[in-house]
Amino acid sequence: MSNQHHDPACIFCKIVRGDIPSARVLETDHAVAFLDINPVNRGHVLLVPKAHHATLADLPDHLAAETASLVPRLARAIQAATGADGLNLVVNNGQVAGQTVFHGHWHLIPRFVDDPVNWPWPHDEYSGDELGQMQFRIERELRGGSTDG
Ligand code: AMP
Ligand code: ZN
Repeated sequence: MSNQHHDPACIFCKIVRGDIPSARVLETDHAVAFLDINPVNRGHVLLVPKAHHATLADLPDHLAAETASLVPRLARAIQAATGADGLNLVVNNGQVAGQTVFHGHWHLIPRFVDDPVNWPWPHDEYSGDELGQMQFRIERELRGGSTDG
């Protein structure tokens, strides 16, 4: 990993490099998965690209793809190991979304029938042509291209 993608002050970079301990469950060339130290439910895993990028939106496409490709395998293992009835895959992108560690990561949270987790979120409705306008605005941004150029 180049130093450009390592932040010595970042707790997940320290975990990636083995400078502080973690309960690892999976490691590849580009990603590490380990137990969240304060789990929503027991078996809550964090999946972290090794390179330091502050949020998921900053990740190059190929690193996002390689890291995300581990999700189905991890999900099966977590569900089998915990006896979970389901699983939430969550990314907190930015402080307003609840991100506290600014090294982009995925949460895999095992879910159990009648667990105390407060989910799902409330849902709003579109009115008038709002939905079409939003579709247009996002599509227009996407035509700008990917991070891998
Ligand atoms: P987020 O709020 O999405 O940024 O998630 C950060 C997560 O990292 C939280 O769920 C914390 O419990 C977890 N966390 C923080 N420090 C550690 C650590 N040293 N080992 C494992 N998980 C950690
Ligand atoms: Zn980092």
